[in-house]
Amino acid sequence: MKIAVIGTGYVGLVTGVSMSLLGHKVFCVGRDKGKIKKINNGFTPFYEPGLDELLKKTLSGKLFEATDDFKKALLNAEVIIIAVGTPTVENKIDLSAIKEVSRQIGKELKNSKEYQIVVVKSTVVPTTTQKVVLPILEKYSDKKIGEFGLCMSPEFLREGNAVEDATNPDRIVIGQFDRKSGKQFAKVYTKVLCPKVFTNLATAEMTKYAANALLATLISYSNEIARIAQETEGVDVIDVWKGVHLDSRLTPRINNKIVIPGIINYILSGCGYGGSCFPKDTKALAAYAKGIGVKAELINSVININQTQPSRMVFLLKQALGNLKNKKIAVLGLTFKPNTDDLRESPSIFVIKELFKEGAEVVCQDPVIDNPNKLELGDFKVTLAKSADEALKNADGALIMTAWNEYKKLNPSVFKNLMKTPVVIDGRRIFSPDSFLQAGILYKGIGYCGN
Ligand code: NAD
Repeated sequence: MKIAVIGTGYVGLVTGVSMSLLGHKVFCVGRDKGKIKKINNGFTPFYEPGLDELLKKTLSGKLFEATDDFKKALLNAEVIIIAVGTPTVENKIDLSAIKEVSRQIGKELKNSKEYQIVVVKSTVVPTTTQKVVLPILEKYSDKKIGEFGLCMSPEFLREGNAVEDATNPDRIVIGQFDRKSGKQFAKVYTKVLCPKVFTNLATAEMTKYAANALLATLISYSNEIARIAQETEGVDVIDVWKGVHLDSRLTPRINNKIVIPGIINYILSGCGYGGSCFPKDTKALAAYAKGIGVKAELINSVININQTQPSRMVFLLKQALGNLKNKKIAVLGLTFKPNTDDLRESPSIFVIKELFKEGAEVVCQDPVIDNPNKLELGDFKVTLAKSADEALKNADGALIMTAWNEYKKLNPSVFKNLMKTPVVIDGRRIFSPDSFLQAGILYKGIGYCGN
């Protein structure tokens, strides 16, 4: 099949590459010529393990091409996928990119003699495809739905695991305007054997929000438990979660073997969730609910807990060091999670800004970030160290913000020997408190009452 994907971000590029691996001819449409050239040379414009290799493979098979030529990409494309950004602006979803590309697609549909299916893959609040995208497509194409098809198929990939998620998905949700649209679009996935859920457009839209809000809720719940644990003498939330996880409804035993499901990675305490999805999607869902007269009390609490969670790191640091003025603080980890270079809504950014307000001197480090401008800190100036060792040298305190493997391997002696005052605040609970305390380090962690 010929497929056009609009958007060359995480979702657009991963979708395009994985669809060409299924044997389809894919054109990925972007706007930035430099980025398009880079992609066509086999390099992804962001860090995603394994994607460069797959991109090169599809390019060499001539099944994939990035382009800024909308017409060429859409001409005779049986499926046109919208994968542009849907940021949250002032706590509400911003549909301007969706509207813009819908207009562009509509204009191309006008001249098309073929039956083409438009598929919204971007995350959009319920009824957007029906009430926003469809009227624009009809207006600009001068055609009625039926002359073209319409689907909404949310994307569930996780950054850092995107290749596996897109090539071997758990499920594919296909929201269809009518059966013809859904049936035709499903042909894209004939070779993919996972369960396919056929539903209507709004249910597909809602499924994505329900999935993300569930995971965000588990994280904020875990962080609320951590706050209670922290104030209770002798409690370590890490052991609490070990005991909770081993409930066989969470960790089943199959043929006498323990199976560790991915969901328990979300029932863990830390310095908060970030990234391009959970923060914006929970806010968009709460705003959507409010707009239709539903008070989303739980979702709003999830958001509130998460917004204050990064501050816990600074609170613990101040407990250990007192005033932070002119203290040198090493921030280890900038991305919102390991195996991605995504800094959007990363708890580190919130923490760095708070440290500045406290008058601290910040030295940060991250295995995949090499340009401090990417942090978009405005007037705040940080030093970006090349290694964790360099960041820790003469530091008064260290904050562990991202659970990169590189940091997990750090021995307590590294902190003890390099830092001016060995104070470590573990925001991802990657270290054993005992080994740090035995090494003479003042160790504090999220959900660890400790010393
Ligand atoms: P992104 O910011 O990485 O990419 C968005 C892309 O859209 C950019 O390349 C941008 O240039 C492009 N774009 C915007 N307007 C355009 C236009 N008029 N013509 C052509 N291109 C245009 O965003 P993303 O992370 O890929 O997310 C895209 C959508 O998928 C969002 O709705 C997001 O919520 C959803 N989603 C993201 C993830 C994820 O992990 N990143 C997972 C599931 C769903």
